[in-house]
Amino acid sequence: MNKRDYYEVLGLDRDAEQDEIKKAYRSMAMKYHPNRNPDDAQAEEKFKEVGEAYSVLSDGNKRARYDRFGHAAPGMTGTQDFGGFSFGMDGLDPFELFRSVFGGFGGDIFGRQTGARQQRIRRGTDLKVDIKLTLEEIAEGTTKKVKVKILKPCQACSGTGSKSGDLETCPRCNGSGEIQQVSESFFGRVVNVTVCNLCGGEGKILRDACEVCGGDGLVRGEKTFDIKVPTGVSEGNYLRMKGEGNAAVRGGRKGDVIIAFYEKSHNLFTRHGDDVLCEMQVSYSDAVLGASIEVPTLSGKVRLKIDPGTQTGKMFRLRNKGIPHLNSNRRGDQLVRVTIHVPTKISTEERKLLEELQAFSPKETSGNSKPFFKKVRDIFI
Ligand SMILES: [Zn+2]
Ligand SMILES: [Zn+2]
Repeated sequence: MNKRDYYEVLGLDRDAEQDEIKKAYRSMAMKYHPNRNPDDAQAEEKFKEVGEAYSVLSDGNKRARYDRFGHAAPGMTGTQDFGGFSFGMDGLDPFELFRSVFGGFGGDIFGRQTGARQQRIRRGTDLKVDIKLTLEEIAEGTTKKVKVKILKPCQACSGTGSKSGDLETCPRCNGSGEIQQVSESFFGRVVNVTVCNLCGGEGKILRDACEVCGGDGLVRGEKTFDIKVPTGVSEGNYLRMKGEGNAAVRGGRKGDVIIAFYEKSHNLFTRHGDDVLCEMQVSYSDAVLGASIEVPTLSGKVRLKIDPGTQTGKMFRLRNKGIPHLNSNRRGDQLVRVTIHVPTKISTEERKLLEELQAFSPKETSGNSKPFFKKVRDIFI
């Protein structure tokens, strides 16, 4: 599916100001919110699409990259970067975004009370790691060691951010992290639950910040993963390792590590789904007389029998020599396209033999060529 231009999605000009972007997002997100469009899959898609567009255009850096490179902007293919995905819906929760833009409405902005208070649980950011694989690695499976820079909980304060480990209950919200306000709006009576601005929704206040981490409860570190790559992956496949990503500020849930797989181009094979295709050149005499030739496969060399009279461009199939289907026992084939090699340099001896052979032509030419010569004759006679 082709991705729509983010400006087009939000109905904006390319030089739109931040407040216009926010305004456009607010009105469109409100329009397409699934709560207002129950069982409307199209509206939900639109809701996600405007969320994605807003998440990029509202961020100066992402917007600049998007303006320059469009949807193919770097960050998708670079090495792992702190802070998770640059673009795309991966790692972006459109509802979370919606809540944050609408100022922390509890969970239902449409005037219905949700009852239970939504706990604000902080979540660490995701880490994206790119792994480039050869076709051989994809066919046989492999384990890759990757080292990533990661945010870990500070050991000095056990991730609390506080030197003493004591956090004071917020006096403004009494520890709930939320302030409730009731107001009238276009949608009727709205219970507006906003995040407490004193404690930032945590319900607790930090008085004695840890000197090691400065109060975030986070320190920079490194982590090494052994990634077992399943056989048959293709470009665009990814693996999500839940809870292995960056730690969250002062406790909370850890983010994920997302391993994205990429395919290196191969000098012999091209991949077509689970099949691989290669080209082999044979000599004229092998094609005419038939031969057994050596063919490379992703798992070593095999011999392929070429029938006598093989025409150039003929395809041979080596069963089960392709790539295993992801999560299955089936395996693709290797297709071998045979072409006839015409040498540009020949020895004196070869020349002599070929001249002798030429003396037989065209009466020795095979059936397929006859109509051609006949046609040529027809033209000239
Ligand atoms: Zn508070
Ligand atoms: Zn600390």
